Amino acid sequence: MPVYAVRANGGTVEDVDGNVLIDLGSGIAVTTVGSSAPRVIDAVRRQVEEFTHTCFMVTPYEPYVEVAERLNQLTPGAHDKRTVLFNSGAEAVENAVKIARAHTGRQAVVVFDHAYHGRTNLTMAMTAKSMPYKHGFGPFAPEVYRAPLSYPFRDSGLDGPEAARRAIDVIEKQVGADNLAALVIEPIQGEGGFIVPARGFLAGLADWCRREGVVFVADEVQSGFARTGKMFASEHDGVVPDLIVSAKGIAGGLPLSAVTGRTEMMNAVHAGGLGGTYGGNPLACAAALAVIDTILEDDLIDRAVQVEHLIKGRLEKLRARDDRIGDVRGRGAMVAAELVLAGTTEPDPGLAKQIATYAHQQGVIVLTCGTYGNVLRFLPPLVISDAELHEAFDVLDEAFAGVAR
Ligand SMILES: *Cc1c(COP(=O)(O)O)cnc(C)c1O
Repeated sequence: MPVYAVRANGGTVEDVDGNVLIDLGSGIAVTTVGSSAPRVIDAVRRQVEEFTHTCFMVTPYEPYVEVAERLNQLTPGAHDKRTVLFNSGAEAVENAVKIARAHTGRQAVVVFDHAYHGRTNLTMAMTAKSMPYKHGFGPFAPEVYRAPLSYPFRDSGLDGPEAARRAIDVIEKQVGADNLAALVIEPIQGEGGFIVPARGFLAGLADWCRREGVVFVADEVQSGFARTGKMFASEHDGVVPDLIVSAKGIAGGLPLSAVTGRTEMMNAVHAGGLGGTYGGNPLACAAALAVIDTILEDDLIDRAVQVEHLIKGRLEKLRARDDRIGDVRGRGAMVAAELVLAGTTEPDPGLAKQIATYAHQQGVIVLTCGTYGNVLRFLPPLVISDAELHEAFDVLDEAFAGVAR
């Protein structure tokens, strides 16, 4: 957008010209607690006065350990866990694969259609979509295989267990469980189009992984951290991942990511095998601790459910009078509308672009996504007000009314 930000808070971004925009993107699911949350500001200020960096591998510090302990508690499953911290989502996904390979002694990695896992070499290979993420950037890392996802809007009636069976067949025939270190999946896909798999799909895959000794990795970089009305989206399906990857919403905008997992898997890696100069930076850790306190003390998980009801209510009303909205889906404050040629399932990326452009001009930050570029996604900060949300969706109503069929 041709908008240069000077300040941002709960639900709005202000630009250099003094325009105030309603934020339905949270900087791509990052500022879940708002862009200048009071506890985060205080915590980072206090930490910056103490020290900014020592490198955790040289002289460790308490905030890193505290973040690890909080994540061990907050992630699904009561088993013994360990956590290691990094800087970005892609870096954490790469490290989850390293851990799975060290633990299993196997090499292959299975990912899914429409997946997005990042822009580094290994995570480009794991990402499905060529343009813009991979085009011209090969060769890509080997031993990455792709299986079919459960995509209810486009699966014509396949239920979750059936879709899991279809994926497992592909994996068994084309890879072989004995060669497979990890299955990596977003419990709700982000860039791929906010695709919520049919119930039983994730559980079916997780059960198969357990039987076959394959490490089940949940990439919750976008779906995690209270965004979907649970601390982690895996909880909606009762799935306990072996390794879980967090980033985006974890530290209120400071760069931080994590891999949390079963102790025996995490400890399979030799001493010194995982690390990085900045991983678990003290400012980012201080921010993360304040984010966790904010989520818990301000009941932001419940707030995500309220946001879901408000947004889905508005979108369903719009869909009832506009058959270019093919599907409304998502959980919590991670909701999408998939746009199609009227009355069909044919993707309409042009319409998504026109609607987003109109919204931007009217001061509403709306993002698109999806393999076909035809999905409008809504990811507001959880501290946004109902009034701000209604104002934004009034603009979207106008946008749909204004774009000719
Ligand atoms: C954004 C994202 C990543 C990559 O995170 P970066 O911090 O941009 O490297 C990985 N996985 C998912 C699901 C994401 O949404």
